[in-house]
Amino acid sequence: MPSIVNLLAAAISIKKRLSVTVRLLLASCVSLLFVSSVVANEEYDLWPNTQYNSNIPTHTQVLGYKVGERITTYADMLRFFEALELAAPERIKLFEYGKTWEGRKLIYVAIGATELINDLDGFAKNMQTLSDPRITNKQQAKQLQATLPSSVWLEYGVHGNEISSTDAAMMTAYHLLAAPDEATNKKILNNTIVFIDPLQNPDGRTRFTQRYYATAGLQHSSDRISAEQNEPWPKGRTNHYLFDMNRDWLAITQPETAGKVKILNHFRPLVVVDLHEMGGDASYFFAPSAQPFNPYMTQNQIDNIGLIGRNHGKHFDRFGFDYFTREVYDAFYPGYGDSWPTFYGASASTYEVGSARGQAFQKNNGELLTYKDTVHKHFVASISTAEGVADNHEKLLKDFYQYQVDAIASGKADKKERVYLLPIQQDRAGAHKLATLMARHGVEVNQSTESFKACGKDYSAGTYWIDTAQPRGKFVKTTFTKQVDMPKEFVIEQERRRARLLNDEIYDVTAWSLPLMFNIETDACNRVIKADSVSIDETHKLPGEVLNPQASVAFLVAWGDMAAVRFLTAALQQGLVVKSADKAFVLEDNRAFTAGSLIIERRVNTADYADLVLKLAEQSGALVVGVNSSWVTEGPSFGSRNTVTMNAPKIAMAWDEPVYSQSAGNTRFVIERQLNYPVTAIRSNMLSKADLANYQVLILPSGDYQKSFDESAVKNLKSWVSNGGVLVTFGKATQFVASTKVALLDVKREFAYKEKTDKPKNASTDKDKSTVKDKSKVKGQLFTQKQNLLDASEVKKKSPDNVAGVLANVEVDQEHWLTAGVNQNVVALILGSDIYAPITLNSGKNLAWFRGPEKVLASGYLWQENKKQLAYKPFLIHQPLGKGMLVSFTQEPTTRAYLDGLNVLLTNSIFRAAAHAKPLR
Ligand SMILES: [Zn+2]
Repeated sequence: MPSIVNLLAAAISIKKRLSVTVRLLLASCVSLLFVSSVVANEEYDLWPNTQYNSNIPTHTQVLGYKVGERITTYADMLRFFEALELAAPERIKLFEYGKTWEGRKLIYVAIGATELINDLDGFAKNMQTLSDPRITNKQQAKQLQATLPSSVWLEYGVHGNEISSTDAAMMTAYHLLAAPDEATNKKILNNTIVFIDPLQNPDGRTRFTQRYYATAGLQHSSDRISAEQNEPWPKGRTNHYLFDMNRDWLAITQPETAGKVKILNHFRPLVVVDLHEMGGDASYFFAPSAQPFNPYMTQNQIDNIGLIGRNHGKHFDRFGFDYFTREVYDAFYPGYGDSWPTFYGASASTYEVGSARGQAFQKNNGELLTYKDTVHKHFVASISTAEGVADNHEKLLKDFYQYQVDAIASGKADKKERVYLLPIQQDRAGAHKLATLMARHGVEVNQSTESFKACGKDYSAGTYWIDTAQPRGKFVKTTFTKQVDMPKEFVIEQERRRARLLNDEIYDVTAWSLPLMFNIETDACNRVIKADSVSIDETHKLPGEVLNPQASVAFLVAWGDMAAVRFLTAALQQGLVVKSADKAFVLEDNRAFTAGSLIIERRVNTADYADLVLKLAEQSGALVVGVNSSWVTEGPSFGSRNTVTMNAPKIAMAWDEPVYSQSAGNTRFVIERQLNYPVTAIRSNMLSKADLANYQVLILPSGDYQKSFDESAVKNLKSWVSNGGVLVTFGKATQFVASTKVALLDVKREFAYKEKTDKPKNASTDKDKSTVKDKSKVKGQLFTQKQNLLDASEVKKKSPDNVAGVLANVEVDQEHWLTAGVNQNVVALILGSDIYAPITLNSGKNLAWFRGPEKVLASGYLWQENKKQLAYKPFLIHQPLGKGMLVSFTQEPTTRAYLDGLNVLLTNSIFRAAAHAKPLR
């Protein structure tokens, strides 16, 4: 049937140009053309004994190959879904929910019975009503449950190099549409809407497929060492800014995540499943998940996912697929794609299939894993999920409503933290960002329009608050509470493992409190707030303001929040002459300004500068004060040597191997999209020889620089810094510049501190000195207990134990220009095992350090030994070198772009440092 392909291609290309009405007409014509005959389709063998209707276009007809024969590109995926919609618009609807950074549209489809597909907005409205017991009583809820369909959201390919899921998504849609009378499908379509997001990360997948097919030769290689099987930097896992988007659901920094949050908040599907891939030697993972579970998940949610997992067991046995449950993949961190939906009441889970990472993969056990195998498994799991949802239709709807009832009740019952308040504070922009972020999550947020008292404290108008007695109360709890504990038994088990020298089983960070990461002061109160207020949504803008716009001498911007940062970066790019005070100062009318405050003088700017200041204040949300006198009663005058002129630095950063891609991408994102300032990414191999004189700042994100920076690279860096460059290093880059081979930064890392134990060890060693002459042997030892074996197998000089991720309190020096305007306490994320001895004063300064052993842990689970050893050790080190300097963070300040509370310090490290460097200008 050659005509079908052509016809469809023609129809699709015409479709782009025609109006909706004509499209519908055309669609029905196409359906008529493929008269709905039932044929046993030769093309498909993934679900045995299925008869597919010929009125739905097949893979071969649309794409020219069978399912699993090729790794479908983003563009072909789109083409396939458009063809499905064109063929059956009454049963499948395609929607766009956003655009990626690289301009690709993000889509999802809804598949179901015609009457459901025709009224998706009505369905969404009913789910929203069911979600709110304050307006929907038990009786009304029962009525809704009796009429509502169940719903499942299947999301695929958030990691762009986990390829099989997108082809499985296409197969799932085809199967449901082309075989509606097949027994399982019939059950599903009878009472369930199946939503499919076939590709959450189009940019990452495109990077993968382009590279994969560009590397292929005469035959596809299944060898894990082949070029085909090895992705170059940056792998397709991440999006354009190299974010792991399966960790982005808390801070919602990426447009892909923002689009999904919006659409899930609209439909609130009962079950959400996120389909991934793991290493090719592994089999298949589905729920029940591994310990620990987030304590704010309910037993119903855990049980429901277990029910669906049980259903998979049935199908996987039938198909002879291997699988495992309850290991590795936990449900503790609330920022995964399968945990965020939990907090609006869904039952959610992750699936992982062993990946072929190409067309074929040779497993260690000798089996050949084909791409089609992996697509097959994800397809079966998808259909089995939808079946599980259909089978548990009533229970799921009932539990969903009950979740909301419980959420409100547990908020009301909280005797300590029923309401969280964000009082007016110095970091006005941070408080605003946190409030609007929560609104974006679907949380009800209020802002007072009058001053009020709550729990014995006075609050001004403008205070935000969140009452946890709301349907999203548990989400607020898990993201706002300072400490979410892992279950006791799990912690005991991890400590036991560590004592046995086994790796721990903690999968991701153990801390994520948003107020801590944003460094925002919050209060808690156990009572309802009584004050006039407005509710805030995500579009709420931070208002900027200029007091005394006619100022005759200068405009001042207090330093210390992101509004001031955005004002500065915009001002520098638009050519305003800006100074910054190294120390705090007070005007003669007693108005006080923080260290770092910006001074924009009439004297040195163009005549129309006031207009620009006004515009920038509005755009950035900054508060600007115009002054008619420069007289200062305390601190430096505007013309003091303690004020520096800010320049617009050219910023470079290391890119490509051996930089860690996520550190590179996240850092670039923070500077470009949060600080709003351009960065030039330079491939690391160029850094060793290129003339960097054009740049004032070079950032080395975390990475294994030892691997590829040779002596000449180090020499090049050293001479650039000496001539006035600012070298900023994060995490493992700090390790590199401090290494003995490089010796740019004058600090050393510490070995683990070993506490002297009084316990008798009971191991005795042969005293006879004559016994050991042979260096390949050691003296004889007698062990009397198993502990002797463990002690003897321990590495003598080892690094401190690895930390999966905790939030730590850091104290900041308040007297140095580099930390001007930065809060005295900031919160850092600690990952890994690096602890540094302080720099000595003859080389530089420790400008921020971890707090004492009792205070260092802000949130999460930290080994006792690390807690003790981290205390008072440096987080930020400054070291002058010639006309330039090093600014080194011992941990990364830009991880996941969600450590907002460090952004002013980061801005200082770039812009204030550049102003203080002394290159020949
Ligand atoms: Zn994944």
